[in-house]
Amino acid sequence: MAVSGARTRVPKLIVTQDNAFWFEAARQGRLVLQRCAACAMLRHPPGPACPRCRSFEWDVVEASRRCRLHSYTVIHHPQDEAFEYPLVVGLVDLAEGPRLVCDVAGIAPDELEIGMELEVCFTEHAHGEILPQLRRPGGGR
Ligand code: ZN
Repeated sequence: MAVSGARTRVPKLIVTQDNAFWFEAARQGRLVLQRCAACAMLRHPPGPACPRCRSFEWDVVEASRRCRLHSYTVIHHPQDEAFEYPLVVGLVDLAEGPRLVCDVAGIAPDELEIGMELEVCFTEHAHGEILPQLRRPGGGR
């Protein structure tokens, strides 16, 4: 997606010491997940402690990018010049288990079906940030 100087109303990402690793991987086009070093639970979004065992120890594993659509919504209003409408936002179950929320690229709302296979790709958004998007498997980018 081309980014123009007019697209400045989109808030910048809030990168913290807890999620910086995730956005750094995204800049490299990699989808990663946190894995608890104590109980091996995979989690997303990133956070300092394991929601299951409360351990603060974790490492990072590469995810496959394969996923299935769990739910979605179509945003019509309010509109921001930084996005194209209708804006489709999907909630997917990653093949590894955790869920991810991000926008859907190149699939019309009436083509979406709950349970359909999708793939996570990364694209440039406002402020030059690289963020995930959902697309059909093998959809390029
Ligand atoms: Zn744990």
